[in-house]
Amino acid sequence: MMLDVGTIIVATIAGCAVLGCLMLVDWWQSRDTLELAWWGTAYLFGALSLIVLLIRGAAPNLLYSASAALILFGYGCLWIGARRFFHRRLPIGRVLTLCILWLALSTLPLVQASPPTRTAIVSAITAALSFAIAFEFWRDRSERLASRVPAMIICGVHGLFFAVRVPFAEALTLPTDLGSAPILYGVLALEGLVFVIASGFTFVALTKERAEVAQRRAATIDSLTGVFNRRAFFARAERLVRRAEVDTRPLAVLLFDIDRFKQINDRFGHPVGDRLLIEFTTLATQLLRPTDLFGRIGGEEFAAILPGAPLAAAVAAADRVRAAFAAVIVTEGEADVRATVSVGVTVIDAEGVGLDRLIAIADRALYRAKHNGRNMVEVEPAAGEAG
Ligand code: GH3
Ligand code: MG
Ligand code: MG
Repeated sequence: MMLDVGTIIVATIAGCAVLGCLMLVDWWQSRDTLELAWWGTAYLFGALSLIVLLIRGAAPNLLYSASAALILFGYGCLWIGARRFFHRRLPIGRVLTLCILWLALSTLPLVQASPPTRTAIVSAITAALSFAIAFEFWRDRSERLASRVPAMIICGVHGLFFAVRVPFAEALTLPTDLGSAPILYGVLALEGLVFVIASGFTFVALTKERAEVAQRRAATIDSLTGVFNRRAFFARAERLVRRAEVDTRPLAVLLFDIDRFKQINDRFGHPVGDRLLIEFTTLATQLLRPTDLFGRIGGEEFAAILPGAPLAAAVAAADRVRAAFAAVIVTEGEADVRATVSVGVTVIDAEGVGLDRLIAIADRALYRAKHNGRNMVEVEPAAGEAG
């Protein structure tokens, strides 16, 4: 099998150019994922560097130095992009320093006279930059992004390929005449091409994954209170109710409605109302169990599903939330603003009636709590137990 270095380099130039342009177009469309601009620039510099490498016969020393400076800046841009992706400080100064350092070294007669020395220096810097990029993807594991580990591995392996070049620079220095390049260099060139494709693909995937996570969050989480919105709550509640019915396990439904909330808004303003809603949410999520489901199903209406909770436990939980909320004070200027909440509770019955019916029954209990004077918990047994 032939591994023609020249052909592989031309393919890599094309790959870099296409990837770079696509990333820049992608960035240009939204203008908020700046890492794509850095990464796109990196691949374009990679293409430029390889073009200079192909024509370096015209002035071997000068053009080799230029080609290496361009590729080092390209790797630097990949690193800057990775740091930008994780909202870290951009090492622009360090990258420029590395490039200038290389250009300064390349003017030394010792370096000019020895191609293997140049190969060793450039390979060492490239390996260091590749490991630096891999390290960025390794150190931040807080976000769940499927392409983070592949990105780390791709950059780490690429760094290894350059690291081994340092001790074997003598054997691995690319001759100016590519036709006489050793076969091993074909393997290294091929690795470069694979790295370009694989890294470009995973970097784009990373930005898409993050955007997807943000969209999914926006679709399921209420922006004011940070709990599930109505749609997400009902989707999850449906599953919990079905499972409880299949397993014939108890399950409680709690409906909360803040009392005379319109008056609070009218008297103290909407922002005070909002603060009360946030206080209520914080309290309720603290007082309920982590396995309970809680969500905002309307303006000042919230609901909870307590899997496994029999009636007495559900009423106790509801009353804990009610009592705690009644003690909350939100200060607005001189005024202490307080509010209360009414709660309707029901539990699943032996037959199983479905979520809609359970909500309707809990709503009847809630209505009674309002009717009987608010700031209280009322219970409405599910159909089977009504007797
Ligand atoms: P009741 O005790 O009978 O429940 O009386 P209420 O005033 O709470 O009930 P009503 O349904 O008449 O009013 C609900 C109010 O909730 C009206 C609306 O302006 C307010 N509201 C809904 N969403 C928000 C919100 O996101 N922020 C604020 N501050 N107020 C909201
Ligand atoms: Mg209401
Ligand atoms: Mg209300």
